[in-house]
Amino acid sequence: MELKPCPFCGSERVAVHDWLNEHPDHSYCGFCKDCETEGSPSKSVQGVIDKWNKRKISNVQYAEVLVEWMKDPKFAAEYNSLQTVSDRLVEMIVEEERKSGT
Ligand SMILES: [Zn+2]
Repeated sequence: MELKPCPFCGSERVAVHDWLNEHPDHSYCGFCKDCETEGSPSKSVQGVIDKWNKRKISNVQYAEVLVEWMKDPKFAAEYNSLQTVSDRLVEMIVEEERKSGT
């Protein structure tokens, strides 16, 4: 079984990252080479794959990643207007999550 594409950016450049040296307890986690999202850590490669493939992302996480992308120099020219939109988006989403209690 393989990792599904990244839940954030849809990239297929995803891999299981070996953290054995840094975090002996968690050992492995899924990793997207394009947006640098990290999945939930696990002690086994199979555990990582299961977690990554079942991964559900919250609206807040999604918005956070979106905002990070907007800081990318590629979007520099559009940054000011995008920032206004993203600030508003994050506000709305955070408010919604607060209401739903998640
Ligand atoms: Zn990604």
